[in-house]
Amino acid sequence: MRYTFQEFINTSSVFDLNGGDDSTDLFKTVQKIIKKQDMKLIKDFSGASVGDFSVDGNEIYAGIFEEPSVKVDGIVHDYGLHFCFGVSNDSGKGVSADIYINTDKSRGDLIHDVKIYMAKNPGEEFAYGIIGKTDRKKSYSFLLSLGANETVYVANAYVRQYERVSAIFKELACQGHGEKIIYGRSVEGRELSAYRYGSEIGQDDKPEVFIVSGWHPPEGDTFGTEGIAEILSDDREREELLKSVNITIIPIGNPDGFVHGFNGCNLKLRNVYWDFDINNKDEMPETYFAWKLMGKIKPDIYFDFHGYTFQGESKFLSSYIKPLLFYSSRRRMFAENLNRRIIERCGGKCVKGYSTFAPSTPGCRLTSKFDTITYAKFHFHIDDGISGIKKMACDLLKITIGEIKKTNSSVFHNNTASFLSLHTICCKFYTYIIGYCKIKVNQFVKSILKSLRQQEKSNA
Ligand SMILES: [Zn+2]
Repeated sequence: MRYTFQEFINTSSVFDLNGGDDSTDLFKTVQKIIKKQDMKLIKDFSGASVGDFSVDGNEIYAGIFEEPSVKVDGIVHDYGLHFCFGVSNDSGKGVSADIYINTDKSRGDLIHDVKIYMAKNPGEEFAYGIIGKTDRKKSYSFLLSLGANETVYVANAYVRQYERVSAIFKELACQGHGEKIIYGRSVEGRELSAYRYGSEIGQDDKPEVFIVSGWHPPEGDTFGTEGIAEILSDDREREELLKSVNITIIPIGNPDGFVHGFNGCNLKLRNVYWDFDINNKDEMPETYFAWKLMGKIKPDIYFDFHGYTFQGESKFLSSYIKPLLFYSSRRRMFAENLNRRIIERCGGKCVKGYSTFAPSTPGCRLTSKFDTITYAKFHFHIDDGISGIKKMACDLLKITIGEIKKTNSSVFHNNTASFLSLHTICCKFYTYIIGYCKIKVNQFVKSILKSLRQQEKSNA
């Protein structure tokens, strides 16, 4: 049978040559080489995050970049959750592209609507673009319309480029007279930068507020610290706020993670938040040097910013609130009042329980060492938008300063943990007893489910 050239490249029936799989594969390969691929997946930019992928005509199949799960303090966290890549249409006409992420087709369990964030240029802010479908785990499908010769960047979060965020903070600090402190270098040698507003470290007795964002790059929490840097760039506001406190901000805790499109790890594939290693300079310079800076400042109040992105209503704007028992008696009253105000601002919601004082996290280490009142994670929510996240962060700061003003200043001096031993014992108890039991129960339930499934299979 003879085919025209066009029939050859467009028709799959030509592969039915009774030649077995090998000849089919061969023809498919030849067809791919001959057929001009107008659609391309772009991943050569700062912040791109995608696993294996393939492009077939107007369909793109991509995997989520998988980072190793964190196993620490008796909890397992999977941070392979976000994607960010570009799609280009090199044809001279508009097309619709079917994008499948971690699935090869539209599946019945992709029932939840999900916002897909888009940008024309990955160096600018992403904005809500279209609605796709997800199982709220790792699979997505959506239809992307592209104009002639157009490239669009897509993500399931407000992905921000390291270069952009760094430049914004530098500019805001310049306007707000913030002092830039380079407190170390990342695995790949990037600056680890903090901005200090108020007096020089150790020069006065004002309470120290310490805020970190950007441990987990796709979470959009750098908008929170940016909002605070914005109000501090206003002379009148700054003057008023700094009457009562000194403020130190680390905007990007994990710069390499931003550049390489990681979800939670540094370049040595260790999660910089959950596994906040303060002893290993080679593997975790980001946490090692952050801890050194924290040690110099001895924060009174610490906020660790994070953000929920695609998870839907099961996750909400809220702070981790740890038990008051972990603070020394002189600080408990202040912590109780501040907790109450923060919970009110979050609509009555908060997160309690073990994760709020997991021993390996920065918040827990700070309380252990300096009796710091820590909000070990403050989760923004992507649905509040950029301005909502910024406003929330500024409100948090103002609420904190408001409570500080009402409090006797003796609460904020001599930052060493008099309750160190109780804190450590409680954390260790939970880690080794309850954490261990949780893992064992989990394994037991999984093994039962597995044997049930095997039984079902053999019965079938
Ligand atoms: Zn996070």
